[in-house]
Amino acid sequence: MLIQIKDTCNPNQFEKIVEQVKKSGYKTTSVKTFNCHYLVCVGSKEIDIRSIGNLAGIKDIHIVDDSNILVSRQWRVKDTVIDLGDDVVISRDNFTIAAGPCAIENEEQVIKTVNFLNEQNVKIMRGGIFKPRSSPYSFRGLGIEGLQIFSKHCRANGIKVVSEVMQVSQIESMYPYVDIFQVGTRNAQNFNLLDELGKIDKPVLLKRGMSSTLNEFLASAEYIFSSGNEKIILCERGIRSFEKEFRNTLDLNAIPYLKDKSHLPVFCDPSHGVGIREYVEPMALASQMAGADGVLLEIHETPERAASDGQQTLNYYEANNAFKKLRMMEEMKRRM
Ligand code: PEP
Ligand code: MN
Repeated sequence: MLIQIKDTCNPNQFEKIVEQVKKSGYKTTSVKTFNCHYLVCVGSKEIDIRSIGNLAGIKDIHIVDDSNILVSRQWRVKDTVIDLGDDVVISRDNFTIAAGPCAIENEEQVIKTVNFLNEQNVKIMRGGIFKPRSSPYSFRGLGIEGLQIFSKHCRANGIKVVSEVMQVSQIESMYPYVDIFQVGTRNAQNFNLLDELGKIDKPVLLKRGMSSTLNEFLASAEYIFSSGNEKIILCERGIRSFEKEFRNTLDLNAIPYLKDKSHLPVFCDPSHGVGIREYVEPMALASQMAGADGVLLEIHETPERAASDGQQTLNYYEANNAFKKLRMMEEMKRRM
């Protein structure tokens, strides 16, 4: 059960609500986000809503039987819309393309990518500056200095920045330069990191853990929400399976499921999901048809020279084709 508390609720009134809910055998957690005050009530007993319904300070009561309560669509029927400012809005009505290199490599690369995205009217650029690499000897990113360059050119061109944060201590230094914090698959269950990202007022793009079930994925999002941040984008990026032909197996089932279960926007990252350049465009289109609100794509002027993930990165010609098709499909979906 989820209780929305009125802004005008005073501590005495709140205490009475908590007391009454606890009497019914429920465990309560008070959650204050940048948007609203909630009382999350977990328990299995039948509750007579009339016993709490007319207590002062309650705005609304929702019966939610999903285990991930705050991110559930059972109480928030409408999709969450994330407004990044400057007319960049993430919503169902407005298919989002976010693209950029796997890793920020140098200033020239940033300028070229920003120019390309500008020409293509793409408003969100991705790029890692802290890179989680399987080998410690691989390129591990330019760090904050790289992010400053990345952000400078994006800001000058009205492009929003999404970049991965790998640990709690990086949040503060990244904060002035990013518009969306990305949580990578390897950190999808780093609960301390999720808690801390719940305390900030910038959106979080949460990748699915490569071995997370969908329920665990939603539980990771629930961590962020219950720590105070409602601006979460779920991103399917493939899971580990027995299949060896691909880096990961993109779980397209996840997209309609997540859209159904949760009010949060859902993106798809087919670059990491398949890991092979030739299959990225078809899987991006498939995810769009499955109901994704946006895609995250790795692009590079010369993928064969990229510092990381070149094999799954589209060159500008391929990216241009993919963007065109995604937009055509979007137009078609609107008319359907
Ligand atoms: C990335 O987007 O560059 C990345 C490392 O993704 P993932 O965490 O999904 O592997
Ligand atoms: Mn990558």
